[in-house]
Formats: sequence, structure tokens, C-alpha cells
Amino acid sequence: MDMEHYDVVIVGGGPAGASAAIYTARADLQTIVLDKDPHAGALGMAHVIANYPGAPSDISGIELLESMKQQAASFGARFLREKVTGLDLKESEKKVFTASGKVFTTKALILATGSMGKSSMIQGEKELLGAGVSYCATCDAAFYKGQVVAVAGRTGEAVEEAKVLSRFAGKVYLLCPASTFNASPDLVGSLSNLPNIEVLYDKRIRSINGNATVESLSISGEDTEIDVDGVFLYLTGSSPVIDYAGGQLELCEPGCLRVDKDFSTSVPGVFAAGDVLCKEIKQAIIVASEGCLAALHVDKYLRGSDKARSYYH
Ligand SMILES: Cc1cc2nc3c(=O)[nH]c(=O)nc-3n(C[C@H](O)[C@H](O)[C@H](O)COP(=O)(O)OP(=O)(O)OC[C@H]3O[C@@H](n4cnc5c(N)ncnc54)[C@H](O)[C@@H]3O)c2cc1C
Repeated sequence: MDMEHYDVVIVGGGPAGASAAIYTARADLQTIVLDKDPHAGALGMAHVIANYPGAPSDISGIELLESMKQQAASFGARFLREKVTGLDLKESEKKVFTASGKVFTTKALILATGSMGKSSMIQGEKELLGAGVSYCATCDAAFYKGQVVAVAGRTGEAVEEAKVLSRFAGKVYLLCPASTFNASPDLVGSLSNLPNIEVLYDKRIRSINGNATVESLSISGEDTEIDVDGVFLYLTGSSPVIDYAGGQLELCEPGCLRVDKDFSTSVPGVFAAGDVLCKEIKQAIIVASEGCLAALHVDKYLRGSDKARSYYH
């Protein structure tokens, strides 16, 4: 069996995993990052990142990731394109299995595999993703100053995101696919203070239309088409990618890994960071800082010291 040992194995090379690698490699820990495909991660899919500190506004998610990766590699971290299919966490020396048949052993593992949206069925969604279709108002609202947008969803997140958009857009249609929102009455009530939000109940998007960019939505109801410049979808939600852990780690609620303040999971030596942890706000800067913290605690764990420390020149 093809077996390699590393001080630290990081599963997932998104901003959480890549940031963790910068810190573990900088701490002189032999580090490998196993990533199945950077384009399959959330940041890898983002067309434009405008809110990451220090990055120019026209940088794509994949470019931002590449610069994080290069920084980690410059400290000695190795990146390998491998899909992790299983873990064996029974011994202190953990085993990580990949689809190509490789096995990596390590005493410290950081899981940073992000979360994945359930695939959507809306016609036009895939084709116009990044060209008017978005899943994140916090990220993209500022691109729609004075324009007309729609938000689709019935959760508190959809309502919150419509409120964020109302600060930028001229008009926001909030399309609730049911007769009520599945959100707190106070939150729904707060919409009445925002005259540029129009709530339409029992409306589902049939198709997102446009050539190069979003131009209109066909919605349920007789011959209803509304002109919009963008649409923000909160219809399917997403869930952490932890299938490969095979139920060896404790959860705090269905699908959500339980971690302590130091990002350690229920198994000593196994840490987790980023969107793989259930969280309210998903942003690159948040997961990058979690990757950093997880890495500093891995360093503390491996060195048996009582305090996490950072490394400077
Ligand atoms: C369309 C879109 C636009 C966004 N825009 C912004 C923005 O403008 N600003 C912002 O701050 N945030 C934005 N976000 C949110 C941000 O991208 C995420 O919060 C962040 O990428 C999460 O980082 P992560 O490292 O936890 O996971 P991810 O970025 O999802 O990375 C996880 C990595 O793990 C890999 N992986 C998964 N399973 C396995 C496996 N079994 N084996 C090996 N590798 C595996 C994946 O291929 C991926 O590379 C956006 C998200 C989306 C979806």
C-alpha cells in the first residue's frame, strides 16, 4: 500500500484549508493539503471577490485561492489533487484514504472540506451563475446599486439578505415560495419599514432569463414575468461535506460537527475549520481566520505546549 506520513494532513484546500497550511507550514510542521478540485469549492466558484482585505476588487475566487496556495507552498506546504474517501481515526496515528488508493498517516488532521449546496433545478440558474445569479447578498449587493433585484426563499436568511440588498438596490422583489415565511415574526415585520422591498407570496421562479446576464424571471402565476438585473437564491440551503468521516466524529446537530473553542473535534488530534462547521455567516475572511486558529491549536497539540503561539520573523 502506498503510504506517506506528514505532521499535519489538511483535507480541503479552500480558504480555510489553505490558511491553515500557511500557519502549520510556517510553524515548521510538514504539511500536506489534499484537495479534490479547487473549482468545486465555494471560493473556487465565486466569480468576483470584492470584500477580502488586501485583494483588488476584480480578483476571482480561484485567483485568490491560488495566491493563498502559493504563500503556503513558499513555507513548504505540499498541495495534492486527491479526493479523500475515508478516515481511520481509531489510533493516535490517523489514516486518510484517497480515491486513487493512497494512504496518508498523521497525528494531526484538519478537516476543511466546506459545505455544498443541494443542486437546484431552476432553468437558467447554472448558465447565469456569476452573471446576475448569486447566493450571497453580503458578497454581491454592492454590484446592484440603484438596480432591480429579486430574492427567492422563505427562510430568515432570505429575509435578512433582502434587507441587505435594500440598502443598495432601487427595488427588491422578495419571492416567498409559500404563503408564509419560515422566519421570526419580528424579522418579517421589519420588512414593512423598507419601502423598496415588495414581498410576493406563493411565487416560485420557473426560469431565470437573459443572454449574457440576467434580464428577467418567469414566476408562477399566469404569464408573470418580472424584469430584474439580478437574482439571489436561498431556496435549497447547503450542508457540511463530512461524508468521508464515516460517523467517527460527534455532531452537535444533524450534519454539524461539534468543535471546541480551539476547533478540536471529539477525536483528539482531529480539528475542523471553515464552512464545514455549521455557521450563520459564510465568508472567506471568517473561514481563513478559523483555518489560522485551527493550525495554531494543532501546533500546540503536537508540541504538547500549554499555549498556542504564532510565528513571526
Ligand atoms: C458563489 C459564491 C460566491 C461567494 N462570494 C464570496 C465573496 O464575495 N466574499 C466572501 O468572503 N465569501 C464569498 N463566498 C463564501 C466563501 O466562498 C466561503 O465561505 C468559503 O469559500 C468557505 O471556505 P472553505 O475553505 O470552508 O470551503 P470551500 O471554499 O468550499 O473549500 C473546500 C474545498 O474542499 C474540497 N473538498 C471537498 N470535499 C473533499 C474531499 N472529500 N476530498 C478532498 N477535498 C475535498 C473542495 O474541492 C474545496 O476545494 C461565496 C460563496 C459562493 C458559493
